[in-house]
Amino acid sequence: MSAPVEPPAARALQPGEVALVGTGPGDPELLTLRALRLLRQADVLLYDNLVSAEIMALAPPEAERIYVGKRRNDHAMRQESINALMVEKARQGHRVVRLKGGDPFVFGRGGEEIESLTDHGVRFQVVPGITAAVGVAAYTGIPLTHRDHAQACVFVTGNLKDGSMDLDWAGLARRRQTVVCYMGFLGLHQLCTQLRAHGLPGTTPAAIVQQGTTPQQRVVVGDLDTLPAKAEAAHLKAPTLIIVGDVVSLAPKLAWFTPAG
Ligand code: SAH
Repeated sequence: MSAPVEPPAARALQPGEVALVGTGPGDPELLTLRALRLLRQADVLLYDNLVSAEIMALAPPEAERIYVGKRRNDHAMRQESINALMVEKARQGHRVVRLKGGDPFVFGRGGEEIESLTDHGVRFQVVPGITAAVGVAAYTGIPLTHRDHAQACVFVTGNLKDGSMDLDWAGLARRRQTVVCYMGFLGLHQLCTQLRAHGLPGTTPAAIVQQGTTPQQRVVVGDLDTLPAKAEAAHLKAPTLIIVGDVVSLAPKLAWFTPAG
């Protein structure tokens, strides 16, 4: 029998180096092998609220753990302070692992963080993670680009600026396109209204998913007309992801993940 094949031995995290690591959408088994390996080498961990306790438990017990936020109204630390702290910890010679939910470059401000590291001459590496859209799609049975229903998929942020969503509505309200909206819970009503106003039928399937890939996952399926009321009635907990498009109609048939067990 041949020996099991080991993953290629990648470079170890050096003292004074930062690893910006995507931890995936929640299920700890969706960590990459590299994320796990670097996590185990950390002296200092900076993490936010999307990184689960199960994932934090995989780090060495003696590593320093620093919570840096951020939920909508709880910015434990401002972005500039996070950037400064990473530089400081690296300059002190620590192996720093900056953990981010999902993928660090998808609505994660990872780009800004490594820009700051570059500006300060701090060495770093980036580990991609499974972004929420991809994880949630898999665990809800919504194939984002099923060829019978969609030929494109767009990721947008629903963050409200002065109470409104500043999006390219004409570009989003296209047939045969799936729209995945991050951070859209507060703007759900607006999202559905604008997509209809720009030409999508009110019967376009739409779903909102709470805490996807975790035991707390909940899926509310409706359409552009019905989803806002259904979501409100469901009293969902953050984080939630919204998916709009014909592919959502497959969810009832293709759902396989039963969070309770
Ligand atoms: N970098 C992350 C996204 C950070 S923005 C990534 O690639 O996934 C935070 C938003 O991501 C949340 O508001 C929510 O819309 C979405 N999100 C992250 N994890 C999620 C999960 N497990 N279930 C549903 N939505 C999630």
